[in-house]
Amino acid sequence: MSEIMETLIRRGFLWQSFEIYGGMAGFIDYGPLGNGLRRRIEDLWREFFVVNERAVEIDTPTVCVEDIFIASGHATSFTDVAIECKKCGRVFRADHYIKEKLGIEADETIESVKEIVESFDLKCECGGEFDEPKPFNLMFETKIGPGKGKKGYLRPETAQGIFIAFKRLADYFRDRLPFGVAQIGRAYRNEISPRQGVIRLREFNQAELEFFVHPKEKTHPGFDTYANDRVRLVDKNGNEYDLTLKEAVEKGVIINQILAYFIGKTRRFLLKAGIDDARLRFRQHRDDERAHYASDCWDAEAFTSYGWIEVVGIADRGDYDLSSHSRFSGEDLSIFVPFSEPVKVRRKKIIPKMNKIGPAFRQKAKKVVEMLSSIEAKDADYVELDIDGEKVRVDREFFDIQEVEEEIHGEKVVPHVIEPSFGLDRITFAVLEHSFDKDIVDGEERRVLRLKRWVAPVQVAVLPLLSKGDFEAKAKEITVMLKAAGIFTEYDDSGSIGRRYRRFDEIGTPFCVTVDHQTFEDNTVTIRDRDTTRQIRIGLDELIPALKELLSTEKDISEFGVIFKE
Ligand code: AMP
Repeated sequence: MSEIMETLIRRGFLWQSFEIYGGMAGFIDYGPLGNGLRRRIEDLWREFFVVNERAVEIDTPTVCVEDIFIASGHATSFTDVAIECKKCGRVFRADHYIKEKLGIEADETIESVKEIVESFDLKCECGGEFDEPKPFNLMFETKIGPGKGKKGYLRPETAQGIFIAFKRLADYFRDRLPFGVAQIGRAYRNEISPRQGVIRLREFNQAELEFFVHPKEKTHPGFDTYANDRVRLVDKNGNEYDLTLKEAVEKGVIINQILAYFIGKTRRFLLKAGIDDARLRFRQHRDDERAHYASDCWDAEAFTSYGWIEVVGIADRGDYDLSSHSRFSGEDLSIFVPFSEPVKVRRKKIIPKMNKIGPAFRQKAKKVVEMLSSIEAKDADYVELDIDGEKVRVDREFFDIQEVEEEIHGEKVVPHVIEPSFGLDRITFAVLEHSFDKDIVDGEERRVLRLKRWVAPVQVAVLPLLSKGDFEAKAKEITVMLKAAGIFTEYDDSGSIGRRYRRFDEIGTPFCVTVDHQTFEDNTVTIRDRDTTRQIRIGLDELIPALKELLSTEKDISEFGVIFKE
């Protein structure tokens, strides 16, 4: 086990679920510290992608009816290729197994896997032969209600809950594009052979934003904020670039401004959460790896002990989802977009001849007239109408065709969707790895988690220097005071002060506040900075504002008092 993983488990960030029953791959528990960290990252995400975006947040069920995934394509296409050993029965995800054993990137298709298995004579780890590769659907099936019940699935992404509520959401935004709808919650994927610890989970946490735009306006008014940010890009052909986002759009490396906008915003968010810029890149999906719903996709990838891992997927889903749900549900999921000025158009119109239609079509006459007036006029000898399932031929003697001028005030459009989809678990893990560090303090090696101050699960530790009643009482009193001020604070009186400092360094607590002898003389305490281990002394009346500022910025403690211990 890696040193960092050992630390995370021992200190209570996370551990394998169902431990006492032998555990199960693909499930983790968040302990007190891991849960705190993930929640802080979630709050930061909300600040970026809901509060400071034209967006709202909703919450929809994780158990969903089957119809949704038939329409979305997941029931047929949300699959990975699996290979099963004929001898030992183990099943592997084909592309991962091929990459691991042969170092080859296999296309995620049955044909490609079959060809590679055969030409390289690829065997199972036990030496056995593989059966024919097969598609394996990643959704967890369930049954809703008693008896035969109704088939359902646990959602494999939070996005569908947003698409199917589109009419109500568009209504909320008064049909004015662009607008975004976010959702944070659990998603479930029955991954074939999750051997990558905390990276590939079967139950995980997503934060997704579905940003609905006019299909012809793939821009974002906030682009300038990120236009000059320099980003490391790898395109679908493997070419690497180091460009500003403005240059990337101008050179066509990123196809439109809105994808570039979300790449920029995602990068700033990840850096603020604590991802190291030098270990972050954006990689465009190859044509063969894109999900069935995406027309283009860029992943934010973080470099970790598992190699480059996808932490965010930023996809242009086009109108795929809204159009599919519209087709399957029969609901119109388009928006009427008014033109800035009415447009005059000339068009050919069918003018029904009432006096002839009446006697010829009798009880169907009313419908024939209605339908003739509504269809596109073409120069033909007759038109065929579908009246209540019956094909009715209407010859040219029953209508005229005239050219008319009409004013059009707008058009119906099915919005396109740009989707930044974040895997909160992978981000949390990458943040932990990128923050993990070791240095030498007082001649000893120390492990320190250099978490950003605003995401640290314990932001301040209050420590009595001695385990004496008055020291402890004062430290407890300060703890209550800091908690009431909204600072995540922990009190600790166990062991020597040096050991306590080390414990809080290891869990990433940015500041320790210590009650010492002088506290009782002049009402001051010390603040120790995790990263430099330097200390200042500060009056108790100034403590809360100083800590609040320190925790929301990267200011040095020397701005708040004289350094008395280097
Ligand atoms: P996707 O819909 O596949 O683009 O997934 C969106 C995000 O969810 C990815 O960028 C990952 O960070 C995360 N994710 C996907 N699958 C898993 C998984 N099995 N375990 C943990 N996170 C995942």
